[in-house]
Amino acid sequence: MSTTQAAVARHWIDGQWSDSGEHRDSVNPATGEVIGSYAMADAKEAQAAIEAAKRAFADPGWRTDRLLRARVLNRMADRFEERADELVELLGRENGKVNDQGRLEVAFAPETLRFNAALALTDTGTNSQVTDGELSLVVRQPVGVAGIIAPWNSPVALGIRSLAPALAAGCTAVMNLPWQTAQTNTLIAELVGGTPGLPPGVANTLTGGHMSGDALVRSLDVPTISFTGSTATGKQIGAAAAANLKRVGLELGGKTPLILFEDADLAQALPIVVSALIVFSGQFCMTGSRLLVHERIADRVRADLATRLRAVKVGPASDPASEMGPIIGKPNVARIDKIVEDAIGQGATAIVRGGPITDGPLAAGAFYRPTLLEVHDNSMPIVQDEVFGPVLTMQTFSTEAEAIAMANDSQYGLSASVFSRDVDVPLRVALALDSGSVWVNDWARLHDQFEEGGFKGSGLGRMRGFAVLDDFVEFKHVRLRPGTTRLR
Ligand code: NAD
Repeated sequence: MSTTQAAVARHWIDGQWSDSGEHRDSVNPATGEVIGSYAMADAKEAQAAIEAAKRAFADPGWRTDRLLRARVLNRMADRFEERADELVELLGRENGKVNDQGRLEVAFAPETLRFNAALALTDTGTNSQVTDGELSLVVRQPVGVAGIIAPWNSPVALGIRSLAPALAAGCTAVMNLPWQTAQTNTLIAELVGGTPGLPPGVANTLTGGHMSGDALVRSLDVPTISFTGSTATGKQIGAAAAANLKRVGLELGGKTPLILFEDADLAQALPIVVSALIVFSGQFCMTGSRLLVHERIADRVRADLATRLRAVKVGPASDPASEMGPIIGKPNVARIDKIVEDAIGQGATAIVRGGPITDGPLAAGAFYRPTLLEVHDNSMPIVQDEVFGPVLTMQTFSTEAEAIAMANDSQYGLSASVFSRDVDVPLRVALALDSGSVWVNDWARLHDQFEEGGFKGSGLGRMRGFAVLDDFVEFKHVRLRPGTTRLR
């Protein structure tokens, strides 16, 4: 393939670049400047990609050759490593991520690809001689074309998080990447699509939105959907997929509680609390957005955290001193600020008001300063609903049971952090939390060999870990009765 990116960011379908009738502008959220243009997919492009993936799946070359799949995934990992700097630069310009946060995202891709290359080679099932001389065995077969839908907040890490296991399992795939990161998507398409040995049509990449995503969800030729996005959209996708008994993996929203016990090491914990709020400008499914603090340390935490949040250096990715970049766009700044205003109107106390930056050199961008609100009512929308911005609530508790009850009183169950120097408390609390991931004295530490996903409204199924392949395979029980079961 040509490795030269076209002026217009395009789709990658059936082993070649593909355009659309509609072109739109890509915008830098830190400045409001147009940085390029892109082709926008709708159902037509999705259909072309599905047909290419269906043809590629019909050829047994890919789905039956696990060595080929492992080799291709490892080569793809090399390509993501070799071009990491470009990906980080694009994420800074188009997605607003400051340098170290862009690196954090980009570093996931090769690790995930290599782990899934290994999974492709370690396919094992169960078998048993259930009756004397007769065998039962279970084989896993790829389901067919996987539809992958990823959100704008981390397109590199999340697109690959679904694509790698789909390919490892032997599926072919259509990735619907978000229009907000079209320039980044094109480099992802180039790195994936240009991998030596990858047959045309096996991995197709679209830049689109709900139209192309919906076409994947409704197509009878796409038996599995791996979706990462909001809980509201996940519910719609689940309902639409159910009409065709299509399987869905859903990685959805969160409202991560950070629980600070009285014996927490605050010098270690509070910088982590700040990171949990500001990484990706609070636009992270695992953003630490609910701080639960033991009442006896509340005054210290309130004062220290306020100082730290006021000191966060907000700015563009192009400034190496920036610690937190912009929000994805100005409409989202207005949306977040309305949520904060409503919360204050409903009784929240602004410890640090934060809010939009409306004057000075950053005013043209979509910047929002970190906000800390103290609340006493767990049922308030600011505690219950995902904000997807740098807004933290603080509540106090007096007992361990109360902290657990407050943390679990949520529609979400994606992740949680527990801070304590006790030997017993962290594990006891971790086991009691309704949460797919729990970190003790830490936050957002993910490893490819361990499952990641949500309880309750945060999702269905798991990404990463050994369970990741389950969204992409059928289990088949084969019962073997040999020609004769008697010894001669
Ligand atoms: P979203 O749900 O609005 O959209 C996600 C993507 O889905 C869009 O880019 C679009 O292409 C597609 N889409 C939208 N409507 C669709 C429809 N009806 N049918 C098919 N496809 C459709 O989410 P967003 O605002 O882009 O992303 C932010 C959300 O994603 C947050 O809620 C965040 O918590 C969540 N998220 C979850 C994880 C996780 O791993 N659990 C990771 C990152 C983000």
